[in-house]
Formats: sequence, C-alpha cells, structure tokens
Amino acid sequence: MHFLTFVFCVYLLTFTTVTVAQEAFVNSSESHFTEQEQAYLKHKQQLSLCVDPNWMPYEKIEQGKHIGMSADFMSLFAEKIGIPIVLKPTETWTESLLLGQQRACDLFSLVLSTPEREKFLNFSAPYIGFPLVIATRYEQIFINDIANILDKPLGVQKGYAYAELLRLQYPNINLVEVPSLEEGLDQVRNNQLFAMIGSLPSIAYVFKHKYIGELKVSGKLEQLWHLGVGVRNDEALLVGVFNKAIASVDKQTRDKITSHWMTTHYELGTDYQRLLKILFVLVAVLAFFLYQHFQLKKYNRLLQHLSVTDKLTNVNNRIKLDRQLEILLKQAQGKHHAFSLILLDMDHFKNINDTYGHLVGDYVLKTLAAILEDNIQPTDTLGRWGGEEFLILCPEKNALQAQVLAEHLRHLIAAYPFEHYIKLTASFGIAGYYQDDESDSLIKRADDALYRAKEQGRNAVVLAD
Ligand code: GH3
Ligand code: MG
Ligand code: MG
Repeated sequence: MHFLTFVFCVYLLTFTTVTVAQEAFVNSSESHFTEQEQAYLKHKQQLSLCVDPNWMPYEKIEQGKHIGMSADFMSLFAEKIGIPIVLKPTETWTESLLLGQQRACDLFSLVLSTPEREKFLNFSAPYIGFPLVIATRYEQIFINDIANILDKPLGVQKGYAYAELLRLQYPNINLVEVPSLEEGLDQVRNNQLFAMIGSLPSIAYVFKHKYIGELKVSGKLEQLWHLGVGVRNDEALLVGVFNKAIASVDKQTRDKITSHWMTTHYELGTDYQRLLKILFVLVAVLAFFLYQHFQLKKYNRLLQHLSVTDKLTNVNNRIKLDRQLEILLKQAQGKHHAFSLILLDMDHFKNINDTYGHLVGDYVLKTLAAILEDNIQPTDTLGRWGGEEFLILCPEKNALQAQVLAEHLRHLIAAYPFEHYIKLTASFGIAGYYQDDESDSLIKRADDALYRAKEQGRNAVVLAD
C-alpha cells in the first residue's frame, strides 16, 4: 500500500472508529440477563455461528478456525453470555446465509441489516463501524466532497447496503454495482470506473497486496458503515442477549480489537517489514552511489591537484603558472590593470648539490618553496618555473610593489638557517605588465632583469626597464 494512503487510513481509523463507538453504543459495564434469558441460554447450552469464510480483515475461516475482528468479538461475547459459540464451517458466504435460512445456525457474527435478511434474522446494535472511502487512480487529486463526483461512474459491491443509503442521500449518484471489491478496483485501474467506494478496512486490506502505485484512497464519505450481530429471529430472546453482551464491551477493548486487525499484526506488519527492506535497499544503493560520487570527486580533485602541482616542492607547477598568467593577461588587456611578476633563481645552487649531494639540494628547494609560500599574499600565485627557479604572479601589485615583496623575500632567504649551515641567496627579476604584453614578452623582461641581478653580483632584486 502506498505510504500516504496508509497514513491516511491510519488517520481515518484513529479518528473515525472512536467517534462511531461513542455515538453508536451505550455502555453499561455490567450485562444483566433476565431470568428468562438466563434460562434460555442454559437450555441452549451452545450457539452455532455462521460467518463469511473470506472477508478479511473482518473475518475468515482459516484451517477450520474463525479469525479476524469478529472472531475476537465472538470470544468476548461467549464469555459474557456464559455458553460457547461454536463455528459452523462453510465454503462461501452464500452457503452461510443458506444455513441461516435453514435454521442451522443461530448466529451471524457480522452482518448488515437488509430486507432479505430480516426474513430470518434479528439484528443487534452495531459493534463496529468504519468509514466508507473512495478509491481512485493514483493521479486523482483529493476528493473533498462526493457531491463533486456524482456524475462519474462510482463502483459499489453488489448487495451491499450502503449503496441504498447513498442512493437515498444523492438521487443523482451514478452507482455501478460490481461483483467484488477487487473487480471494481480493477475497473478503476482500467478507467472503466472513476472510483470504487468501499469500507476502509477492506480497501486497505486489498491495497496491501495489489494496486501499489496505481490506486489510492482519495476521499472519505460522511456515512459510516455499521455492522452488528445477526441472530435467528425465531428465538426472540437472542437479540436482547447480544445487545447486552455488546454493550458490556467497553470502547477501549473495541478499538483495540479493530486496530489490531487493521494495523498491527495482520498483513500490515509484514508490509512494514517489506517497506523497511525496500527502504534499506534504497538507502544502501543511494549510499553506494553517493560514496562513489564523492570518491570520484575526491579522486578527480586529487588528479586535478596533481596535474598542476610540482611533485618536489608541492607548489604550483609550470602548467598552472602558464594558465594563471594567461588569465591575468586577459583581465589586464585594455583595462590598464597593473600586475607584476617576480622571477627568482637560486645563486650558485650547483654548489649545494656538488657539496652536499642531490638530496640536500632537494631539501633546500622544498624549504625555499615553503618560505616563499608563507610570505606571499593569498592573491599571489607561486610556482616552480623550472630547476631552482620560481615565479610569483602578483595580480594586485605594480612593479614597485612587487619589488618591495621581492626585497622582503630576498632578506628572508639570505637569513634563513638551512641545515648544514648552508647559506643561500637568490636573485630576483621583476617585470610589470605593459599594455599589449604577451606572456613571452613579459617573462622575457623578468628574465632579463634576473640576468642583470646575477651580473650585479647576485643576492639582488632588479626591476625591468
Ligand atoms: P647561478 O644561478 O647563480 O648562476 O648558479 P647556479 O649554480 O644556480 O646555476 P644554474 O642555475 O645553471 O644551475 C642550477 C642547478 O640546480 C643545476 C641543477 O643541478 C640544480 N637543480 C635543478 N633542479 C634540481 C632539483 O630538482 N634538485 C636538485 N637537488 N638540484 C636541482
Ligand atoms: Mg641558479
Ligand atoms: Mg637556474
């Protein structure tokens, strides 16, 4: 059953059965049987019971046993009246009615009063009552008032007394009798009927197994469907006995029995388990896809990072520097937007490798990259240009501002306490963006400036012309 329909049913059940019970029954906690009644029952010794063998959740004969809502009530009533109620097993409801007519059963557990049945039965006060609901195709919107759909073909089960009540209340109603609830629901599914009207428990019961995602409960009627006990009318005392037995069952007990068969135990329990299983599988599948998605995203990010990162120093590589420089050039074109770059090269780095070995050379390079990274601004982009040369792109600095930064870095490097008491310096070339600069021209000016810094004796910053 669709979850919303289920919620709707539970809602209806919770609120409507309560009202029915309050309206329809007058409670007296004690059942006082008259002497006449007591004598009658004593003489009777037991009552034979006829039921509908296939009418869940109301009742059913399962392996010769009466089960369902009415069965629970019958046990209660038997206790109250003090003699056993014994089931007469039958194959069909028609067979049961026939036995009743032949006086082969004293009692029908759950029946509606109809003129035909009044010929051989007396009817007790109702002991259960349920709302009638409207089942439609799934896409139908909520039906607030049945008056709005009177012109549409509405199915009712043949022989059900509520059809008569509906015709009385709505003379224009377009009722179509169908042989069974499921046949009616099939016709709704196939668009032959607009809706099927039935009692909530019956429809809810069918919906647990069939029509999932195809049909739903779209509305509810004002009418409540009351059911009581039918007793043989040739033993006049019997109806009074049952009215007293019914009156002695309090509301809570009644609600407990009906909701037990409606919701808790019967099929709905397993249905919930199935729902949970489906939910579990869905969540698992979703989790798997989410996991994969994030894992892939992570891998992609990692790949992305690796593709633009220098392996040794963990700063940007040349690919990233080239890309970033192109972006800056585009932004700057025609906008007189100042930006600069700093190219730096380690002084006599070959000596480090020669003296301490390549691994120490690597350590120095990594340390140097870290010093640079820690002392530029977040908007600046540092990258390894090649070998022991680094490039810093400064989008928000003109050449003079870049020169200030370069001087700062130069001092830091020269003063840095590298391992092995290595003393190291670097030379810097600065170039500011000129109009119509291309990356080659800009880099070349920085490179020329760096060359001059070397020529001047290294450990120097030179600004390009
Ligand atoms: P200067 O720039 O001051 O003229 O002298 P230099 O000794 O630094 O000269 P040059 O720039 O020509 O040499 C750079 C050296 O840096 C050469 C190479 O052995 C070394 N080098 C380049 N890449 C790496 C690296 O990844 N690891 C190590 N350990 N050394 C490297
Ligand atoms: Mg060098
Ligand atoms: Mg070099």
